[in-house]
Amino acid sequence: MPTITSFLAAAPRRWRFPCLFSLLVVVLAGCATPHDAFDPGKPHHRPGGFVNLHPSPHGNEERSFLRWQWERLQSDLPADRPERVPRVVPDIDLLRSNRSDLTVTWLGHSSALWQVAGLNILTDPHFGPRASPVPFAGPRRLTPAPLTIEQLPRIDVVLISHNHYDHLDAGSVQALARQPGGSPLFIVPLGVERWMADAGVSRTQRMDWWERHVVPGPAGPVEVHFVPAHHWSSRTPWDRGSTLWGGFVVQAVVAGEVARLYFAGDTGYAPDFQEIGRRFGGFDLSMIPVGCYLPRWFMKSIHVDEEEAVRIHLDVRSRLSWGVHWGVFRLCDDPIDGPMDKLPAARDRLAVPVDAFVLPVLGQTRVLRRAAP
Ligand code: ZN
Ligand code: ZN
Repeated sequence: MPTITSFLAAAPRRWRFPCLFSLLVVVLAGCATPHDAFDPGKPHHRPGGFVNLHPSPHGNEERSFLRWQWERLQSDLPADRPERVPRVVPDIDLLRSNRSDLTVTWLGHSSALWQVAGLNILTDPHFGPRASPVPFAGPRRLTPAPLTIEQLPRIDVVLISHNHYDHLDAGSVQALARQPGGSPLFIVPLGVERWMADAGVSRTQRMDWWERHVVPGPAGPVEVHFVPAHHWSSRTPWDRGSTLWGGFVVQAVVAGEVARLYFAGDTGYAPDFQEIGRRFGGFDLSMIPVGCYLPRWFMKSIHVDEEEAVRIHLDVRSRLSWGVHWGVFRLCDDPIDGPMDKLPAARDRLAVPVDAFVLPVLGQTRVLRRAAP
């Protein structure tokens, strides 16, 4: 059996680097071994990764990245107007002193602080300058984060919906893991715990769809459920679908009544949401993505537009929804301020009241329920 080095030595000099590169790709692809949680009885499990539960209602996917990039070069895309994105200075004293009220604070894109039964919970924290694998290129932050990681109250739990760069930011995760008082618990989709371990983050809990994890809080137990979304995962060209993606439901008793929050992560439209609505019976607040869905031919199966987002709000039976995944990073052909123009018409078409599905203000805290009336 010839070794790799003898094989390369036998190859013409000009072919050695391409051969080495090809071998590296093959080896790395081979390293994507079946996940140790692989369960052939689960419809979304495959030996090498995961798939969505349902076909997209938009039919067959046509997702040629090269075609998209070629079309982008030739088209005149609308400019971002980050100055339009409304913002307020967060009430940091309130956030740091609150031990019992149910609050939500939008930190931009899919990042939010949820305060539930005395626990401080972050969704997809991203405080970095770019949503990109490299620091010198890729979508950059167009609106500053409303507060820094150091200004946050001590974080107990971090929910990561999936491993795309606009949702799983290495610098933010590592800074949170080093916070004074010890690392938060990172609750992640199946497979992402391996990335976390490589990044030096050890306090993790991995979850599959429909699993439940209970976190003890100062004001009682807080249930975290991981639920399906219609999306995908990848951080490199060779790991597509090798880790899971999804959304979260957080449930706890606040002021004597069950409170439920829902974060949809990234998603296309699918029957999953009616099932989530059926199983949980409605939410006090849902965070549903409304940005990054153009061009439609490329994005429709994995990102909802504003009207589909409002449909999800109805499907999951939410009393109040916040449209998120906008206002920070230009990732698609729609501008970061696009939902400000398009959401009102989508809401009207589905007869949803103006105050039932809103765009939050950057840095805004909403008190959903007070523990002591
Ligand atoms: Zn994504
Ligand atoms: Zn995203």
